[in-house]
Amino acid sequence: MRYRLRVLVVCTVTFAAYLSGSGSPPVQAIRLHVDLTDAPRNIYHAHLQFSVHAGDVSLVFPKWIPGNHRPSGPIAALTGIRMEADGRPLPWQRDPVEMYEFHVTVPGGVEALDVFLDALTSQDSAGGGGPAASSNILDLNWNAVLLYPKAARSDDVVFAPSVTLPAGWKFGTALPGARGSGDLIEFAPVSLTTLVDSPLIAGVHYRQVVLTKPGETPLHVMDLVADDAADLAMTPKDLAAYKKLVAETGALFGARHYREYHFLLTLSSQVGGHGLEHHESNDSVASERTLLDPNLHMLEAGLVPHEFAHSWNGKYRRPAGLITANYQEPMIGDLLWVYEGLTDYLGNVLADRSGLLTDEQYREALAATAAMLDHRVGRGWRPLEDTARSVQILRMITTPEWVNWRRSLDYYPEGELIWLEVDSIIRQQTRGQRSLNDFCRQFYGGESGPPKVVPYTFDGVVRALNDVAPYDWASLLKERIHATSHHAPLGGIERDGWELVYTDQPNAFTEAAEKMYKFADFSDSLGFSLGRDGKFADVIVGSPAYKAGLGPGMKLLGVNGRKWSPELLHAAVKAAQHSGEPIELLAENAQSIQTYSVPYLGGEKHPHLQRVTGQPDILSDILKPLSP
Ligand SMILES: [Zn+2]
Repeated sequence: MRYRLRVLVVCTVTFAAYLSGSGSPPVQAIRLHVDLTDAPRNIYHAHLQFSVHAGDVSLVFPKWIPGNHRPSGPIAALTGIRMEADGRPLPWQRDPVEMYEFHVTVPGGVEALDVFLDALTSQDSAGGGGPAASSNILDLNWNAVLLYPKAARSDDVVFAPSVTLPAGWKFGTALPGARGSGDLIEFAPVSLTTLVDSPLIAGVHYRQVVLTKPGETPLHVMDLVADDAADLAMTPKDLAAYKKLVAETGALFGARHYREYHFLLTLSSQVGGHGLEHHESNDSVASERTLLDPNLHMLEAGLVPHEFAHSWNGKYRRPAGLITANYQEPMIGDLLWVYEGLTDYLGNVLADRSGLLTDEQYREALAATAAMLDHRVGRGWRPLEDTARSVQILRMITTPEWVNWRRSLDYYPEGELIWLEVDSIIRQQTRGQRSLNDFCRQFYGGESGPPKVVPYTFDGVVRALNDVAPYDWASLLKERIHATSHHAPLGGIERDGWELVYTDQPNAFTEAAEKMYKFADFSDSLGFSLGRDGKFADVIVGSPAYKAGLGPGMKLLGVNGRKWSPELLHAAVKAAQHSGEPIELLAENAQSIQTYSVPYLGGEKHPHLQRVTGQPDILSDILKPLSP
């Protein structure tokens, strides 16, 4: 067996766990066994055993999922619910108002309640779009396979988890105390908080890569599973980069808030499609050839550093509104521009400092982000903070129509620009003596040790920034998150000695993304992007295409009288610049077909960063590695 053996905490210890109502005496750990042998068919079978007393019991299914920041617990996928006592079925009822709550009456003389349930996993429960499992791999998020006593604090409820894997599969998880025989693996009892925070991945093709030197603590390992064994190959350069990533986080934060850390990396184009952060692991899914294909490698380079940085920003330090006693309490997302925005900034900077991205690739990605946000016309009505507060509704939209007008989860990319600006201001104010690195060390460092959560507020962030470099941070940040505006906050780029420019040369990031995800991007010229099938994904409000009457959902059929292709459209944009003639686009709108005349003569436009001569290059300073 390839799984790791660790010292098992003795399983018979009695833990305090609470059942519905107050005053219940401490009970033993809730046993949870998950039979994963049907994972290839995307159904996980769970058996829970609760210690109970006679009376009414209310059990709940986790609703508000950490890292998702919203009520995304996959309740509709919860099936096959059965409750039993001593082998006899007990009738249960769903609460008529709260769909995540179940009621059962336990008869006298009964001490154990058995609950059986199945999780349908054709949509993964970590926030991605794809299924959680395939014929070769699976991703288990425990929140999808358990109930717990209503009103209990997740820190106080103890679970004794175990799994049965498909025959011969190997697994990775940060869950402690694994021991097993054959495909049955038992783990040490842990709090519900730790359980939900410790997903497990498994697969036929599994590889573990150790990223710390022998004897160095805490241990960092990468657990990889892939649909195809060949996709597990890691180049020596990548191995060195991931080791460097560990070193860079040590140098940046100065402390680690985990006992050991697992990078759970699934390489698959079928399953998941998410990256989800945890204290002691991250559960990330990248396309299957990410380690082999240079384009995919570049596009996915920020994923793992982003999720890793969350161990400090998001898990250890967390906005007070996102800290809840259990998974039924609502979360408030107002500070997600710190939680996700700063993580986006640090993730990309760490990817560069570790060698997963080159400086040029970093700048191309930043230019594409800045241009995209500069075209978000909806910034005129929707302040950035509203995109964070609205995470619950914005996350539910999976199509790109009118995204420029609606805005999306802009607190990620716009947060990146804001934190770049903050970093630049600190460096300028202190004449290069201090930087955001100092903020990270003070705010996220502290003492190393096992996971804990320390809340923060807007005022706390401002105070910590003022400790690093006195400035009117409160006004600046309030302006960035509360005000509406016509342009993206490009102050960081400009203070750093660069400017956003548009040329006829493709942006390396966008070009790679177009190739990989099969779309064509004309956002910066005609004002739209469209799929290879010609369907307009989005049309930017106020752009030449918008003024001509085109809209998302329509389908492009022809360009200047010929059948459309991305190449033909690029050629038409170039030709119009010289001919002065409008571009004629034939498009289908449901049952109608019409020609739209687009008088656009500006030629091809793609975003890049260009040095401003005579100004110091602060951006290159930011990207310098901190570790030797
Ligand atoms: Zn994130």
